[in-house]
Amino acid sequence: MGRKTTPRRSTKSKRKTPAARPKAKAGARPNISVKVKRWTPAEITEAFRRFHKAHPTPRGELEHINPYTLLVAVVLSAQATDAGVNKATPALFAAADTPEKMVALGEDKVRDFIKTIGLYRNKAKNVIALSRELVEKHGGEVPRSREALEALPGVGRKTANVVLNIAFGEPTIAVDTHIFRICNRTGLAPGKDPYEVEQELEKVIPPEFKLHAHHWLILHGRYICVARKPFCDRCLINEMCKWPEKTRPEFSLEERIGASARTMKNEAKFA
Ligand code: SF4
Repeated sequence: MGRKTTPRRSTKSKRKTPAARPKAKAGARPNISVKVKRWTPAEITEAFRRFHKAHPTPRGELEHINPYTLLVAVVLSAQATDAGVNKATPALFAAADTPEKMVALGEDKVRDFIKTIGLYRNKAKNVIALSRELVEKHGGEVPRSREALEALPGVGRKTANVVLNIAFGEPTIAVDTHIFRICNRTGLAPGKDPYEVEQELEKVIPPEFKLHAHHWLILHGRYICVARKPFCDRCLINEMCKWPEKTRPEFSLEERIGASARTMKNEAKFA
């Protein structure tokens, strides 16, 4: 792709007129119960080949300095944005970057550090409780087993999957609200709950793409295939997507791959 600028929505194209592209109603939610066609194995491989081309080594957006601070950041991110968590955690991790230091810091001080994050009272309790368990049962280390992670206070399957993937390089897929939406909307991996979608993704994603699939799909859902008005015009997997309401791509594949690359590197935001 020759140009460096981010493709913008065209103001001249007929496809962008209100008549051609109905506006989402305020409060409208995407209908993910509509049955959509499933992708073929060739389509799935091609989609992940494109994600890989756009960003060969995607990274999560939660700031952390070691497996322990990653675990804390993921616990804090429940029902909160990564950006919001990233505003609060540098000061918290400067004060305590190990479970021992966090326990010594105490719940009241943890609460003060994270009070800009939703549900901070409960999360402060969980951070102290899980830190104490790490010290008492795991020698102050974050365990590498799903079972041990899920036994920690405030840690569920999704959090365990994120930690196993990012901290330990396991090919796990944490299904968050974005992945759940796009897997159902596009037909990639339909399921009635996050666990079903995770199991489906496990089945259909080629092994060579599994390690990064979680990041690619989250970033795609967060910035391109957004809930209310997805940016189908610049979507790099538009050709494979089976959503009946999708609009056609307005940019070449190379331009769309470039746009996704910049989005995944946080150089462009469309939402
Ligand atoms: S074409 Fe539109 S609905 Fe389909 S994956 Fe891309 S952004 Fe999402």
